[in-house]
Amino acid sequence: MNLCKICHSVKTKLKFVYKSKPKGETDFNIEKKKYYREFFECCECGHMFSDPEFEITNFYEGSYTNKTYGLNLLEKFNKIISLPFNESDNEGRFQFLKKKCIKILNSNIINVLDVGSGLGIFPWRVKKENWNITALDPDPQNINHIKNEIGIKTIQGDFLKVKIPKKYNLITFNKVIEHIKEPKEFIIKAKSIIEDNSLIYIEVPDVKAAQYGKDREEFFIEHFHVFSEKSIKLLVNDCGLKCLCANSFIEPSGKFTLRAILSN
Ligand SMILES: [Zn+2]
Repeated sequence: MNLCKICHSVKTKLKFVYKSKPKGETDFNIEKKKYYREFFECCECGHMFSDPEFEITNFYEGSYTNKTYGLNLLEKFNKIISLPFNESDNEGRFQFLKKKCIKILNSNIINVLDVGSGLGIFPWRVKKENWNITALDPDPQNINHIKNEIGIKTIQGDFLKVKIPKKYNLITFNKVIEHIKEPKEFIIKAKSIIEDNSLIYIEVPDVKAAQYGKDREEFFIEHFHVFSEKSIKLLVNDCGLKCLCANSFIEPSGKFTLRAILSN
């Protein structure tokens, strides 16, 4: 039986079946005839989830970046940061967060830990604002690029295992927790390394994308979870945090996304 991964309801249904790689999905060298995966939908909380038989051990410590971005990280990075403001998902994200932080955080000093920084696009924008930023990523190539090309403090390792030496008042997960089988563990860890009156920002794919079909990137193989407003709120409450807001929106790139702000 496929219980909902968030609310544990038994009322789930098979929503999408994939027998071949959808167009645009990264090729992870899965044998063509072995490619098979499913997406389920919870009838109670609207959460969508998948549990493919796909080897992901150490996946984000190298091969993901190679396969997704190729070897030239700097070239890819420069291309993304030169997008005009109104075409940039990253600028939209930063402006949203800046407004919230000014309104809610009772401090002029913002110490950010960005978890799963990838190419470092978001940390780069935060640094431009003169906030304190540390970027964490499991992939040594990403870390070298962020440290040496962007000049940002880094922590390399698995977020759940690595020792975090200080506390922060803003932790950001930009398109990260949908890649994790047990996203609750990530949020609990984040909760343990924030100061009082701090914020956690979570950005995830939105189930609203499903109305446009199964081949959308929100449902690509790397995603175990696609959230509804209800499921993200349930997850957050289950971690003992408050959900200050959870909003659906469509990004300039066309992605259906949910962003949530949590506080302790
Ligand atoms: Zn559910």
